Amino acid sequence: MLDSLHKIDMRELASMYDEENRDTFISIYLNVEKLDKKFIEDRAKACKSVLKDGLVRENFEKTMDWINDYIKEGMESGQKGLIIFASYLKNVFIDYKLDMPLKNLLVVDSSPYIKPIAELLDFYDEYGLVVLNSNRARIYAISGGKIGYEKRIAEHVLNRHKKGGWSQARFQRIRKGEIKHFLKKVAEDMEKLDVKYIVLAGPGEAKKWLLDYLSKNVKEKIISTLDAKFGEDVISQSEEAIEDERIIERKNILQSLVDEILKNGLAVSGIEESIKAIKNGQMEMVLIKDGLTIKGWKCEKCQIFDAGSIETCPYCGSKTTSVDVIEEIVELAERMDTHIEFIDDEILDKLGGVAGFLRYK
Ligand SMILES: [Zn+2]
Repeated sequence: MLDSLHKIDMRELASMYDEENRDTFISIYLNVEKLDKKFIEDRAKACKSVLKDGLVRENFEKTMDWINDYIKEGMESGQKGLIIFASYLKNVFIDYKLDMPLKNLLVVDSSPYIKPIAELLDFYDEYGLVVLNSNRARIYAISGGKIGYEKRIAEHVLNRHKKGGWSQARFQRIRKGEIKHFLKKVAEDMEKLDVKYIVLAGPGEAKKWLLDYLSKNVKEKIISTLDAKFGEDVISQSEEAIEDERIIERKNILQSLVDEILKNGLAVSGIEESIKAIKNGQMEMVLIKDGLTIKGWKCEKCQIFDAGSIETCPYCGSKTTSVDVIEEIVELAERMDTHIEFIDDEILDKLGGVAGFLRYK
């Protein structure tokens, strides 16, 4: 079975580290549609040659053996991507088989390298699509044009045309009751959709009637209503609606960031301020410039990191490990329940590549 990107436990991954600042974790991302064995060999060779500590080098070799044995066993059908986080010394081996190709990457660090997953999650944001008429419904969760979840609901409902024997009033009352029962069921199932946006689609009036049975919370998620026949390709139509919504959303996010900064409100900008706010649990949402990496250092023992380079930790004196500050911000944000949004925009550039909204001040 393939894994869903959206089921990856980011918080758990963000909580793993080597408390002695040793580079004992290997994170590997592979495109397995076209498995490039030379990439793995070359990267392994390069990393091994720069690992000076005997214990760390031995751990690297044993961990790579694990990974290579695993890869030799082959992939699942339909699998396009593979992610592994492994450390022989820490007895950790976590694998994710995905249906999307990934950019090849092998990173050796004191903790799992999860920034690429955060970027993918931001890019392949899941949304809900509900297609219905007055007696049939399909509820989908869709990400990157693919169906990740599907639920079908069908109910017996009298058709529109009255049969002999019943009075018109009795027929209408019964039909109405049946439709109501069906729509209530659909509404209940929609509550279970763990998504930010929902698109409603279908022929006729049922999608309008459904609104009466939805909670306020679900109703607010509906960003578009499409007239479509059952069986029509509503997925690509809903993708367009979602894409439009995301463009508007990003614009609004940046506009409120500007507003908050100007009125000295609930926003921070720059690496230092942002790190501080996330650490304090104040940060609601962190905005990170697309593709940004910043060289920095980290002490896993004290769980501190910063931009620049320092050989030994100023607090405990341990030897530090060099890191990408953005990766550390992602890990910290995952642990502190801060939503992460990657945005490509000039304003964010000028603010040092990282900014965010505060829960409180
Ligand atoms: Zn320290």
